[in-house]
Amino acid sequence: MRQLHKHYIGGEWVSVDGANMRDIINPATEKKSGEMILGTSVEVDMAVAAAQKAFETFAFSTREERLELLGNIIAEYKKRLPEMAAVITEEMGAPVKLANTAQAPSGLGHLMTAVEVLKNFSFHEDRGPTRILKEPIGVVGMITPWNWPINQITCKVAPAIATGCTMVLKPSEVAPYSCELFNEIMHAAGVPAGVYNVVYGEGPTVGEAISGHPDIDMVSVTGSTRMGAAVQANAAKTIKRVTQELGGKSANILLDDADFEAAITRETLAAMRNTGQTCTLLSRMLVPADRMDEAAEIAKKAAETVTVGDPNDEGTYMGPIAHGDQFRKVGELMDVAAKEGARVVTGGSGRPEGLSEGYFVKPTVFADVTPDMTIAREEVFGPVLSIIGYDSEEEAIRIANDSPYGLSGAVQSADADRARRVASKLRTGMVYINGAPGDISAPFGGYKQSGNGREWGDHAFHDFLEVKSVLGYNA
Ligand code: NAD
Repeated sequence: MRQLHKHYIGGEWVSVDGANMRDIINPATEKKSGEMILGTSVEVDMAVAAAQKAFETFAFSTREERLELLGNIIAEYKKRLPEMAAVITEEMGAPVKLANTAQAPSGLGHLMTAVEVLKNFSFHEDRGPTRILKEPIGVVGMITPWNWPINQITCKVAPAIATGCTMVLKPSEVAPYSCELFNEIMHAAGVPAGVYNVVYGEGPTVGEAISGHPDIDMVSVTGSTRMGAAVQANAAKTIKRVTQELGGKSANILLDDADFEAAITRETLAAMRNTGQTCTLLSRMLVPADRMDEAAEIAKKAAETVTVGDPNDEGTYMGPIAHGDQFRKVGELMDVAAKEGARVVTGGSGRPEGLSEGYFVKPTVFADVTPDMTIAREEVFGPVLSIIGYDSEEEAIRIANDSPYGLSGAVQSADADRARRVASKLRTGMVYINGAPGDISAPFGGYKQSGNGREWGDHAFHDFLEVKSVLGYNA
């Protein structure tokens, strides 16, 4: 039984007398795996004070000092990599294979990318007598979700450290174990006291105390669009910078010249990865209307190869949904889809055969989905693929863009120019052509209600920097 009974504030683990605790549930068993302390605004105040004090010196640390510090964090992270994968499997149910090859290494990837960017990043620019300085923004509040838990923590922490910011982080209350292990990594790496602080707790308490705090200069959040709007409204009183990575309902356009067998098989399996709990998931597959049955058949075949079950089993492709509320929401949305007339090609609500406990759902494909259906509009955050028909390239682009979200998108075509043309018309922060792999140095973020700002690589640095014009500097 894991016991997270202390926050990490000012370089120490801090307990609070009489604090409330929250049970942490293993989603594969529905059994309690541990408990986590619930912070309040009092601990947020303590953490902000520690971060403010640390900022006085850390803001003026040199590039070399920060490179050395990031190097130490990377060395400690590497030592704990298998443990990191194991706690992610325990807290949110990622299958061991995914946890070991993607979830845990993603943290290392962001740290290493920050090092590469920092080596050559220019923190000033001269224009005649004027010098334009890029300075750390100050104390940053960070709020993160459970679906790629250490990825989302490190993609904020690494650039914050690299740019000389100090921080107060509230990880997801659903999946806090990876954060606790990261606290140990940061401590062992010798991160100066107060640079990195963690207050455990829930959104309406600790999250709101962070977003409204007058001494926090910026909040960087990842989570639902509902949460992003609440944070922005609460942050408005103090005019702090708010960057948000929020939800998505991304479209994958199969043009008529694409290799259907290869593309649909690949993209169906991708939609089931991490049990569909990925913000950039390509959950709407757009196919020429007269090839709907062909597309549905290929997707069915691919989805039925997905192995669902114990995330500790090396052969498992899809683990459980990460928590009970989400499990119920996914089932309800599947039922709504069927009721509204979507054709269940495979899957549907209810646990897969042979699994009587754990938040397991079936890999599900709906065909004959129309753009107005709930399943085509709402983010499911589960392993559900909706196939929608279109009559022309223009209509496909219109359907793809007909969403309040604008996070990701994809185009499949044998003609590179055609694929690029369609990509240029998608109102999304990212577009994948023909199943291109992810790029950890490319800016990550969304248009419209998918957020503001860009994480990853050098673009993340800009989010954490303020700009100062010093006139007469070079006179
Ligand atoms: P969530 O919005 O419920 O919670 C995310 C975090 O926000 C948690 O730490 C939570 O405690 C906190 N929070 C909730 N309400 C708050 C409030 N009023 N004030 C301050 N903090 C608050 O999201 P979730 O269920 O953990 O994650 C799933 C969502 O995250 C999905 O919508 C998904 O698309 C999105 N997501 C987006 C990205 C991206 O980069 N765009 C990445 C991963 C997940």
